[in-house]
Amino acid sequence: MTALLSVEGLSVVYGGALALDGVSLTLAAGETMAVLGANGAGKSSLLKAILGLVPASGVVRFAGEDVAALPTERRVGRGLGYVPEGRRVFAGMSVRDNLEVAGLSDRRARAQDVARIFALFPDLARKSGEAAWRLSGGQQQMLSFGRALMGRPRLLLLDEPSLGLSPKLAAELFAAIQAVANTGTAVLVAEQSAARALSIAPRALLLRLGRVVRDGPVGDLSATVLHDAFFGL
Ligand code: ATP
Repeated sequence: MTALLSVEGLSVVYGGALALDGVSLTLAAGETMAVLGANGAGKSSLLKAILGLVPASGVVRFAGEDVAALPTERRVGRGLGYVPEGRRVFAGMSVRDNLEVAGLSDRRARAQDVARIFALFPDLARKSGEAAWRLSGGQQQMLSFGRALMGRPRLLLLDEPSLGLSPKLAAELFAAIQAVANTGTAVLVAEQSAARALSIAPRALLLRLGRVVRDGPVGDLSATVLHDAFFGL
């Protein structure tokens, strides 16, 4: 079976500093993988490089196509969905409009997608007419997630989705991520809090100083390996 996502030797340099150093990975259709590592390990840079949000060198193939030269919106059009760090929503727009503007051009399909997201997040359904700035932080994160789903992605990239959320809301959000993964959408989730991500991902990629230190099933992950990735020198 061909991989849905295949990344080879991906590197990102910011003003002379190497943030991502030759990262390679493959992800099958429908697979969920956690990207773990300490603050500054390169998790965000990896997701952004896959999306084309930062200049990067290396190979990015998606659904068999070399997308490395495509601008971000074309990669999104191919089936990449992104939930950025820090809940980006249009604060002055209603919840429903936030979803609508991120949707497909076909009206019927768009209405179905909004209904699907409201079923996944009943809080958003209840506040559909409210301006997004009136939502709690957790609800804004759910809206940001809903916006990414509106494009019907084949692969969802989530950057620190639980950051700043209460344990209850984080659990709710991860249950929703799991529900989406169960429908066959592949998921790449970057997290600093390993426990949460590992609860939904059978496989983890550990990054340290921009390099892959481990890629494999979560069951084989020892506390020592995790500790070294986060705190090792
Ligand atoms: P965090 O959890 O803090 O987001 P991360 O694992 O996602 O960490 P990155 O944000 O990818 O890590 O950062 C990797 C390295 O690149 C860090 O040393 C960071 O300081 C640096 N970096 C990230 N963005 C920029 C930027 N725009 N300009 C310069 N350096 C940057």
